[in-house]
Amino acid sequence: MIRNIWAVGRNYLNHAKEMKAAVPSQPLFFLKAGSGATFSNEIILPPWIQEVHHEIEIAFQFDKSLQLQNCGLALDLTERNIQSLAKAKGEPWTLAKSFIASCPLTRFISCSEIPNWVEMEFSLSVNGTIRQTGKAKEMIFPIETLTEFAKTHFPVCPNDLLLTGTPEGVGPIRRGDLVEARWGQMLQHQWLVK
Ligand code: ZN
Repeated sequence: MIRNIWAVGRNYLNHAKEMKAAVPSQPLFFLKAGSGATFSNEIILPPWIQEVHHEIEIAFQFDKSLQLQNCGLALDLTERNIQSLAKAKGEPWTLAKSFIASCPLTRFISCSEIPNWVEMEFSLSVNGTIRQTGKAKEMIFPIETLTEFAKTHFPVCPNDLLLTGTPEGVGPIRRGDLVEARWGQMLQHQWLVK
C-alpha cells in the first residue's frame, strides 16, 4: 500500500518560469493522497474536471529501510484552473492535486537498471507529439536533498513515493488522448484518457 505521495513543486527552472513562479530557496513539498496512485493503462478524469494538465516526473519509492532503490515515472495530474484559483486566494492545492486517480504510474524498476539515470532523458508525449522532456540532473534540488528534507520533516513510510518535480511543457490532456511516458530504453508506458 502506498500511504503518501510526497511531491515537489518548481524543481526545474524552466517550469518555474513557465508558471511565472518564484524559484524556491528550499524544496517546496506538497502531498498527494497515496490512494490516488494507480498502475492502470487508463487515465480516468473525474466528471467535474475542467482542465487537467500532465506533469511527468521521476518518482522514487521508499523501501522498508526508507532507502530509495526503485524508480519509475509518475504523472502528477493537476487541475490547473482550480490550482490557479487556489494560488490566487492562498488556499491549499488539495482539490487540484489529489483527486481520485490523480497519480498514474509506470512500473517501478531498480534504479541500477537505468545506466547513469541522472543523465537519461525522460519524456511525455500526447497523441505522438512530445510535450515534455527532462533529465534528473536539471533538478534544482537533487534527489539527496529532497530525500533528506522529506525524512527530516515528514512521517515518511515504507512504499511511499517521492515525486521530484516536472520539467517545462505542461499542458492539458483531454478524453480520447493517448499519453505516453518514456525513460531511456528501460521504461515505457501508455495511457488512454477517459
Ligand atoms: Zn508536479
